[in-house]
Amino acid sequence: MSLFGFALSVLVAYGVIRFLARAIAWASGSRYRAFRRLASRFGGRYETRGLSDSPIVSFPQGEDVVRVGLAPASARRAGVISTRVVVRFRNGIPFRLDLAAFDSPLIRMAAKGTQPVRLGDREFDGAFAVRANDPDMARDFLGPQSRRSLQGLQRLAPPGGLSLAISPERMLVQIDRNLSEDDDALFAAVAETLTIYRMLREGVRRRISEGVTLIEGDGRADEAEGPPVCKVCGELVADGVPVVVCAKCGAPHHRDCWEFVGWCSIYGCGGKIGRPPAAPALRSSASPPPRP
Ligand SMILES: [Zn+2]
Ligand SMILES: [Zn+2]
Repeated sequence: MSLFGFALSVLVAYGVIRFLARAIAWASGSRYRAFRRLASRFGGRYETRGLSDSPIVSFPQGEDVVRVGLAPASARRAGVISTRVVVRFRNGIPFRLDLAAFDSPLIRMAAKGTQPVRLGDREFDGAFAVRANDPDMARDFLGPQSRRSLQGLQRLAPPGGLSLAISPERMLVQIDRNLSEDDDALFAAVAETLTIYRMLREGVRRRISEGVTLIEGDGRADEAEGPPVCKVCGELVADGVPVVVCAKCGAPHHRDCWEFVGWCSIYGCGGKIGRPPAAPALRSSASPPPRP
């Protein structure tokens, strides 16, 4: 090879590497642009999770923590990426509510101790199925302002692609659409979720000040029977999906869900270390064997 040919190939290789580096920087920068802007608007943290996983934005809200990220819509819509906004409660609330389209798995696999709730608003009752452990509290919480925000969220989602799930440990809004490139839609999703969260906080405060004894959270109780259900998204922990088991209480979570919430979602556990499942049927064991 002549000196000239060698110099030329070095130059070409250099050019290709420069181009690839810029392409990667451009792709990763613009792909999650709305998440970066969300982080700066709310003074939050933008967490990357390696090259292939999507980022998570987190920021405090009062004593609680909000986390925003993407996840597969899993059982609901194969191949669809959904946007999730979760508020993780520092101190658990004694309230459970699931709201979704009527054919949603969230409603079909209803949490124990919940019952159907209707608000007497024909348009709303026709659009959403609601189940809650405390129907009076649910009706109070789902007042005009919460309903307006839910309708705002519904407009961001495909038909039937919105759900709201409240448990003692967190409130989760899931929209079956990838909003990571749409600043306005992502900001709207977070703003409407925060309105619903404020209504929830006020509702809980009112209910407790009325002296009403709320039903205690029963996160552990429904673990005893049936196939394992992920406490973050409410869906089955099925074969073929990466699973993480809480090292403290043994509760199974989807790996995506575990990383999204950041720690164990079982009420009162607070475990921060997750590990791959050791063997089937080990999840309730009091002393899991040490893993290498
Ligand atoms: Zn899950
Ligand atoms: Zn746990």
